[in-house]
Amino acid sequence: MTFDDQEYLHRYPFIDRILITSEDIQLRVRQLANEISRDYEGTVPILVCILKGAYPFLADLTRCLAIEHEVDFMAVSSYEGGTQSTGVVKIEKDLTCNITNRDVILVEDIIDTGLTINHLVELLRTRNPRSIRVAALLDKKPARTKEADLHYTGFEIPKEFVIGYGLDYDEKYRNLPFIGIMKA
Ligand code: 5GP
Repeated sequence: MTFDDQEYLHRYPFIDRILITSEDIQLRVRQLANEISRDYEGTVPILVCILKGAYPFLADLTRCLAIEHEVDFMAVSSYEGGTQSTGVVKIEKDLTCNITNRDVILVEDIIDTGLTINHLVELLRTRNPRSIRVAALLDKKPARTKEADLHYTGFEIPKEFVIGYGLDYDEKYRNLPFIGIMKA
């Protein structure tokens, strides 16, 4: 755990514990970027950041990529302020670029039930990309209700509500550099 992580724990006493330290996140993100750089050598993939939660992951991931790439953003909502998935996926902001014949990598913060990512992949497939893959920082496998095809996964985590590194509770705490669990 870094000094920064410790400081945040003091500042935010409602955090029960750190599940993944900022150091471990940075290390793993670099490994994923190396893997993506190898797999996509000679191509220019479009990395699609799923807002809001995936923004720190996209920023750190792209800074470690050794290949040319583009980024775009999509915003979806599947939660309404609480901690339970509604199963309803609403597109709040669509892509600005044309993905036809392009290699697309969807960059997600967390795969929980799998509903959001399945919906997005289905939607984007109708636009005829050359390929489409998913990079998810966190995989909450025990919560899955719909199977999801993940190509790049940072960490598998238990079925607990997590915050930090882009993940919020009521729009707050996205700034934490680690993945933490709140006190009950
Ligand atoms: P899914 O459709 O896979 O159930 O949910 C995906 C979305 O739900 C994620 O992109 C994220 O916004 C939200 N989500 C799922 N689990 C958590 C969690 O533990 N913490 C937070 N903050 N958001 C979560």
